[in-house]
This record gives sequence, C-alpha cells and structure tokens, in this order.
Amino acid sequence: MCLEQTHCKILYLSTMDIKFVSELDKLLIKPKKIVIIPHRNPDGDALGSSLALKHYLEKKGHQPSVISPNGYPNFLKFLPGESEILKYSLTPRDVRNKIYNAEIIFTLDFNALTRAQDLTEIIKNSSGKKIMIDHHESPENYSDLQYSDPSMSSTCEMLYNVIKALDSNSITQKIACCLYTGIMTDTGSFKYPSTTSETHKAVANLIELGADASKIHQKIYDSSSFSRLKLLGVTLSNLVKIPKLPVVYMTLTQEELNFCNFQKGDTEGFVNYGLNLDGINFSCIMIENENDKKIKMSFRSQGKFSVNSFARIYFNGGGHHNAAGGFSLDSLENTIIKFKKALDEIKKEF
Ligand code: 5GP
Ligand code: MN
Repeated sequence: MCLEQTHCKILYLSTMDIKFVSELDKLLIKPKKIVIIPHRNPDGDALGSSLALKHYLEKKGHQPSVISPNGYPNFLKFLPGESEILKYSLTPRDVRNKIYNAEIIFTLDFNALTRAQDLTEIIKNSSGKKIMIDHHESPENYSDLQYSDPSMSSTCEMLYNVIKALDSNSITQKIACCLYTGIMTDTGSFKYPSTTSETHKAVANLIELGADASKIHQKIYDSSSFSRLKLLGVTLSNLVKIPKLPVVYMTLTQEELNFCNFQKGDTEGFVNYGLNLDGINFSCIMIENENDKKIKMSFRSQGKFSVNSFARIYFNGGGHHNAAGGFSLDSLENTIIKFKKALDEIKKEF
C-alpha cells in the first residue's frame, strides 16, 4: 500500500478516504472468504466495479464471489469474469451459504440494503463485515466501513482510487476493462457534469493498462438487437411534451414490450433521448411490468432540477441529482395522472 507516500494521498484519496483504505488494508492482510454484491438490475458501473474488485482480490489470494440479486442485460456479458457471477434465482442455497459464511461482504454501487432485492435479509443476517463503496446520495447506515461520495462519477472511479492506493501496480488488463466500462456507462460516455479531469486521468491510465476503449464502446453501444431498435422507435413515437414546462415523458406498455420481443436491458438508455430535445431538462420513462405488477420509472434531468428528490418524494425511489429511478404500483394511466399532478405541485422549480 502506498499510503505513506504523500503523492499517492494527493493523487487518489481525500483525508476521509485514507482512513477507509487503511482500515480496508488491515482487513485484507490475511486471505478471506468474500462476497461482492451489486444492486438489483445491475448496470455497467455495478457489474464493472464488482468484477474489478473480484479480479483484484483473487490476485491478492482471497476467495471472492460476485453474487447478483437478479439478471442483467446481454451487452454486459463481455465483461471479464462475467460467467462466474452467481445468481440468486439459479442457485439460492449456494448463494445463501456463501453470504452466511462470508467474512467480508462488499455492497457496491448502492447504499440502501433493499436495493439488494431478495438478498437484503440474508446480508442483514450474515455476520460478515459489511463494506459499502458507493456514490448515491443519502447513504443508509448499514455498513461497518463505508466509502460514500455522491460527487464521484461512478463506483468504478472510486474503486480505481481505492485499488491504486492499496497497491498502485495491481491493475491488470481485466481490472482495467471492468473499471473503464463502469466509468464510461455512468458518465454517459464522459459527458455528465460528474466527469472531472480526475475522471479523465483515471480513464487515460486504464487505457494505458490495457482497457480497449473502442471495443468497450462498441460492445456496450453498438450491439443492439433488431427488436431493441424497433422498441426504441415505439418509445419515441410515444413521447409526450408537458405544455409550458421543459418536461417530456415516454411510456411502454407490456403489450408493446411483448410485441417487440423485449429482453432484459433493452430499454436501458431510452429515457436519455428526452433530453436530446432543445429546451428540455427533465425526461421520464414509465415502463409497465405485468409480472411485478409495477410501473418502473426512470428520471433524467439536466442542471439544477433534482430527480433524486422527485423520485424520493413521489415515486418510492432515489438515485442521483440528475439520474434517478422509482416505481408506481398504480396502472399506467393512473401513474401518468400522478406524474402530471406532481409536476403541477413543483412547477415553480423549473
Ligand atoms: P435507472 O433509471 O437507470 O434505473 O436508475 C438511475 C439511477 O437511479 C441509478 O443510479 C439507480 O441506482 C437509481 N435507482 C433506480 N431505481 C431506483 C429505486 O427504485 N430506488 C432507488 N433508491 N434508486 C433507484
Ligand atoms: Mn453507479
């Protein structure tokens, strides 16, 4: 670990995080049984950070397993180590035992235990030390050790700093690929305001260490199925502008999803298209899910309007200032009415 070296402190970590890294370093002195858990419906940042950490810990002689609460999109399956991810739905008994026997449980890219879905109670009841690394706002107080920083672009950028501080020469090509993927996806390809010069330095270093940036972009963004592109067409044709407000919303019914042969992950990124419109700074998508009897909602904003607060207050959710999610247990029609009512209440904020 290079914590004693002033340049490492300055380069990679703030004072609070130095404490986190030194505690973590102590915990990792001896080989341990470790589980790493991303949030449900894991995205590039959640899976990228989980797999990067797994590769790092393996290299250091530990026994880590990544456990996903549920499935994830096909476009993330190129990530090195993906095939070894355990899924609760496929091997519940094995997963339960792994979590109960773990000496350390990392929860990555989330800060509310319910985001681990069916794993929530199992994590709570395990005696393993819980370690949170996350960049969402308002962290819950469930972990024994936490590195939480909502100003960071991604959990992958935070983990990059942590690994660099633990052992500056330990980033392999696999780790670089996983971390690059998470930083790229959570920054909207380096365009969101959370992208700093430090983010670009981290990414430049990851490319030097073997991340194939061009290949990763292509795997994530240019691997749509024909039916996904058709579904995007349906979504955009359902786009509605709220009169007199800089707000748009889109909807997808279960019938439309079925018609376009919906596969998990197909709607990822659709909500962002609303912000392509000139003068729009709040976009929402509402997606019907007959199985879960829920409407899944995603919110994106530009500038000062906080979709994190909006999701928390009106739709049981949360996230970041400019990117958040939530859900409604009402019908799609009633959810649209509720959405419009909520906008009416807060219209002065725009
Ligand atoms: P997405 O719209 O892509 O599902 O999620 C956007 C952001 O909001 C992500 O950072 C995600 O972790 C967070 N998020 C999505 N859904 C929920 C939710 O139901 N509850 C909370 N607390 N956060 C959510
Ligand atoms: Mn993230």
